[in-house]
Amino acid sequence: MTSLHPATALVRNGTVAGDPFGATSPPLYQTSTFTQDRCDAFGEFDYTRTDNPTRRAVESLLAGLEGASGALCYTSGMAAIAGVLRLAASGERVLCGRDLYGGTQRFLHGHLDGVAVEHVDLGTDESGRCPDLERALGAAPVKLVFVETPSNPRLVVSDLRAISRAAHAHGALVVVDATAMTPWLMRPLDLGADIVLHSATKGLSGHGDVTAGVVLTRDTATLATLGRNRNAEGTALAPFESWLLARGLRTLGVRLDAAQRGALRIARALEVEGLAERVLYPGLESHPQWQLHARQSTGPGVLISLELPTPGAAAQLVERTRLFSTAVSFGGVSSSISVPHFMSHASVPHGAAPRPSDRLVRLSIGLEDPADLLDDLEQAAAGPPDLEATRPSDGWSILSAKKPFPLRLT
Ligand SMILES: *Cc1c(COP(=O)(O)O)cnc(C)c1O
Repeated sequence: MTSLHPATALVRNGTVAGDPFGATSPPLYQTSTFTQDRCDAFGEFDYTRTDNPTRRAVESLLAGLEGASGALCYTSGMAAIAGVLRLAASGERVLCGRDLYGGTQRFLHGHLDGVAVEHVDLGTDESGRCPDLERALGAAPVKLVFVETPSNPRLVVSDLRAISRAAHAHGALVVVDATAMTPWLMRPLDLGADIVLHSATKGLSGHGDVTAGVVLTRDTATLATLGRNRNAEGTALAPFESWLLARGLRTLGVRLDAAQRGALRIARALEVEGLAERVLYPGLESHPQWQLHARQSTGPGVLISLELPTPGAAAQLVERTRLFSTAVSFGGVSSSISVPHFMSHASVPHGAAPRPSDRLVRLSIGLEDPADLLDDLEQAAAGPPDLEATRPSDGWSILSAKKPFPLRLT
C-alpha cells in the first residue's frame, strides 16, 4: 500500500511485520541478540546494534511519510547530523545557511577535521535564483549544502527548490534539517533535496520523553553508506526509544494540527498587542517569506520567535510566564519558552554564524488552550521592567528564577 494518506499511515502502520499474534500496536523487541539456527548463517536479525524489528518498523513508517526509500534512526538528532556531515571527507567543502541549530554549528566548526565550512546567504533574488549560494558553489567543488528551513530560531525560510537546482548543477548534495516541520508539514525530498533529517526529540516523538534522530533519503547507495557507518559506530536508536518514538508518531498529525492552530492564533494576537517589537512566524503575512513557506509546506508549525525591545524585557517574559516551561527543545505537547542566545544556541562557537540576539525569545506552542497561553504571556509582559537593573552583570541564569505555577483546574 503506497498511497495511504499520512493520517491513515500514522495509525495503521508501524506494526512489526510477521508478528505472530497480530498486535495492533508495535511490539517492543527489548533484546540485544536474536538466536541463530546455524553458527555459519545469520537469520533476519542477529544483533540490535545492526537491526531490530521495533526500530525497523518505525523506520519504515517514517520513510513512507517522508517519501523516502529508507530511513535510519539514531540515538539523537545530533548523531543523525554527525552521520550525514561525515559524508564530507577531509579536504572537501560544506556550505550552510547563517541561522542553524547551535549544536549543528558546534559540530560543523569543531568536529569535522579538514572540512572547510562556509556560511552563505541562501536567499533568492527577484529571478528566483540564489546568488550568494551560486557564487560559493562556483568557486570550488562542494560536497554538500546544509539547510534548515524554517531556521532555528530566527525562522528564516529558504527556497528548497531553488537551492536544490543550484546545488545539483554543481554536483553538491542538499541536506535539509526539517525538524521544525516534520513530514506532516513538509517533504523536502519532493522539493529536490537529497537527504532530509530530523531531531525526532522534537515534534516527531512529541512528548518530551525521548532523544532520537532520523535520516531519510531516496538514494540507496547513500543509505547503505550511512547504515554501515551507524552499525560500525553504534549510534542506532535503542529498541525502547524506537518504541516511544513509534508511540508518539501515532498522534503526530492531530498534535501538530491542534498546536499549530493555537500558534497561529497566538502569533496574530501578539502582533496586534505589540507585546514584542517583532513577531516572527511563517504563518503571518508580515513574515518576509510567508508565501514561499506556503508554497513548500502545508503549515507554519508551532514555533514563534519574538524580538523584545531589550534583553531585560526578553528575560522578564521568559521568567514570569508560568504555563510555559523555560526549557530548550520544542514540538512537545506542553508549551515552552526560551532565550536561544543563552540556551539552545549557547554552544555556537566563535567563527560560526553570529549567535541569535539576547532579545530574541522563542516560543514552542503545545496543546494547552491558546487563550490560557496568551493570558500567561500578557501577565508576564506586564509588570515593571525592573529585571535589568537588579540582574548581576555576569552570566545570570534564566533557568532558576521561575516561580512555581499554582495549578488550579477549572
Ligand atoms: C534539537 C535540534 C537538533 C539536535 O537534536 P538532538 O535530538 O537534541 O540531538 C538538530 N537540529 C534542530 C533544528 C534541532 O532543533
